[in-house]
Amino acid sequence: MPQAENAAADRVFGASRIVYTAHRTGGHLLLGQLGTGRPALTASYDADNIFAKILRGEIPCHKVYEDDNVIAFMDVMPQSAGHTLIVPKAASRNLLDADPAVLAAVVPLLQRIAVAAKEAFGADGVSMMQFNEAAGGQTVYHLHFHVIPRYEGVPLQAHGRGMEDPGVLAANAEKLRAALEATG
Ligand code: AMP
Repeated sequence: MPQAENAAADRVFGASRIVYTAHRTGGHLLLGQLGTGRPALTASYDADNIFAKILRGEIPCHKVYEDDNVIAFMDVMPQSAGHTLIVPKAASRNLLDADPAVLAAVVPLLQRIAVAAKEAFGADGVSMMQFNEAAGGQTVYHLHFHVIPRYEGVPLQAHGRGMEDPGVLAANAEKLRAALEATG
């Protein structure tokens, strides 16, 4: 394969410091992540996204949980009462470029927060959502999971519209923190 069509560049993207190599096959530019064998990324990670700023403590959030790897806080535009976001700290744009080890570690916490949220908010069920790229419904480009308590006969509010009163968010965060402590 000609030099120009192979290994066009090695690049380091943003805070994640992941090295990529680009090459061309059959007219398609493929971005492969060295060392993992994972397939194409669509775009690079932007360390100035709003969740990265929350993770760095540059803007506030209604936090319900934090450990070395994950932070969870209330969604400011909840689709239903108690809507919570679980955000791995590792820099990835979404699920498509995430480290599988990060995904594996976050799933038990999704379960724990879903169980606690159902209890805390007296919900009848829980929806989990996760969006990838604009066409997939994503609006903030740092990997996150939505835990959304559901109530019999109550439809979801629109995604990412309608700011909740900060007092309501603070009260909901407190309820969820208490339920998480109660469930250990
Ligand atoms: P997604 O479309 O999956 O990227 O969802 C992004 C979510 O983040 C939406 O549900 C927004 O309501 C929520 N959101 C945006 N900015 C903030 C913020 N500063 N604090 C908490 N939630 C936010």
